[in-house]
Amino acid sequence: MLDANYIRDRIRTVPDWPQPGVQFRDITPLLQDRKSFRVLVDIFVHRYMDQQLDVVAGIDARGFILGAVVAYELNLGFVPIRKKGKLPFQTVSEDYELEYGSATVELHADACKSGDRVLLIDDLIATGGTLLAANRLLNRLGAQVVEAAVIVDLPELGGSRLIAQEQIPLFTVCQFD
Ligand code: IMP
Repeated sequence: MLDANYIRDRIRTVPDWPQPGVQFRDITPLLQDRKSFRVLVDIFVHRYMDQQLDVVAGIDARGFILGAVVAYELNLGFVPIRKKGKLPFQTVSEDYELEYGSATVELHADACKSGDRVLLIDDLIATGGTLLAANRLLNRLGAQVVEAAVIVDLPELGGSRLIAQEQIPLFTVCQFD
């Protein structure tokens, strides 16, 4: 698919960041270029324009950039799923495991209604822990994730397999091995 290669070619790999041995996939060149940013947003908008969605949820922090623009183009509202301690109102929260330690994501308790059809957006899926915790948050409010959508999948880290096991539909634009 031409669009997928076009997007993939504009993602920069930064070796040994944020720590030795990590190959960080950096989407900032993709966002910076006006043409590739538009191609990216259009992929998501065309995929979801007829899906009768109620709201777009984006994951802290790069999921906010894409998620908010896609929500605007779909004429939907946007809700942020944030790292612990950033949301001011009453929240629900979910913990998940990292390689060393754990992390927590939170969502405002009034961000979704029971039965809402949600598009969940982030930039990248690695181990899948973040996306699965975000899905649990939305489920706790009675919302249904119609699809989780990311720009990049790192399949060797196993996240997309876990998402499939949980029977959450997943859309990824491109992959890096
Ligand atoms: P996971 O929970 O292990 O799937 O990690 C995914 C989360 O970590 C996403 O919110 C990403 O923004 C972030 N992340 C992990 N690795 C990378 C990377 O190589 N590039 C950009 N973001 C990353």
